[in-house]
Amino acid sequence: MRLALFDKGRLGLVDGDDLVDVTEQLAGPGTPGPAGALHRYIETTETTARGGAARLDLSGCARVPLAEAALEAPLPRPGKIVGAPVNYLDHQAEMEYTTSIAELGVFLKANSSVIGPGRDIVLPYTDKRTDQEGELGVVIGRTARHVGADDALDHVFGYTCLLDITVRSGEDRSTRKSFDTFTPIGPWIVTADEIPDPDRLDLRCEVGGATRQRTSTADLIFGVRELIAYTSSVMTLHPGDVIATGTPAGVGPLDHGDRVVVEIERIGRLEVGVDGSRATPYDQRPGRRSR
Ligand code: MN
Repeated sequence: MRLALFDKGRLGLVDGDDLVDVTEQLAGPGTPGPAGALHRYIETTETTARGGAARLDLSGCARVPLAEAALEAPLPRPGKIVGAPVNYLDHQAEMEYTTSIAELGVFLKANSSVIGPGRDIVLPYTDKRTDQEGELGVVIGRTARHVGADDALDHVFGYTCLLDITVRSGEDRSTRKSFDTFTPIGPWIVTADEIPDPDRLDLRCEVGGATRQRTSTADLIFGVRELIAYTSSVMTLHPGDVIATGTPAGVGPLDHGDRVVVEIERIGRLEVGVDGSRATPYDQRPGRRSR
């Protein structure tokens, strides 16, 4: 299944060129709350969604042409977003890091940083680099604590395209990566049954029409299984949490007006814009101690 949010929070199942409105079928009646209808479905079912589509009767559901639907972030407010620092060797080399995820562990991004397809990444500073990092996003489907690598994929609901936007400055990662708009995800979640091996997916990221990043997730230092095993040894992963699996070489600065695209095999294509019109000088940020 490919599941998307559209038209102010409706839950849609991608069926050919259409979106079928399955809000009531999957999320149940009533307003789904700020985390959204897809999050509610994942949370209430603790599902890994294998074979879920077959049980759905779509005959009475409204259909909208996909081309006319206003897609939103499939999970507008995940429980938490876990990030993987330095999880490709070629990115470690380009940044001249001496350590990788094996020494650094994982970090957290604010869940308020999520935006959906077609929205703009808002650049905070005129004089500090803000870089794109194209990544595979993993959506947890079943509560995971002390899960072994061999059982890890049984805890995955699905996968999505993700951008881990990052300011290159001196602050902690959790600050530099948590500005509002810094975690575009989408255009939908592809359920795990359609991705037999998440560690074998081609990923491409493009900025301003030029390809900057091209990799296979086979090159991850901690693959998806190891990431879930390691992270769940630290913290409980809940249904609807998202893991940003790390970025390959080719990160670079974003400018006002850029279009950023992440495309992942078997998943889809996420495109967002860049708005630098509200950026201010780094030295004028609040809280700066005057000397
Ligand atoms: Mn990253």
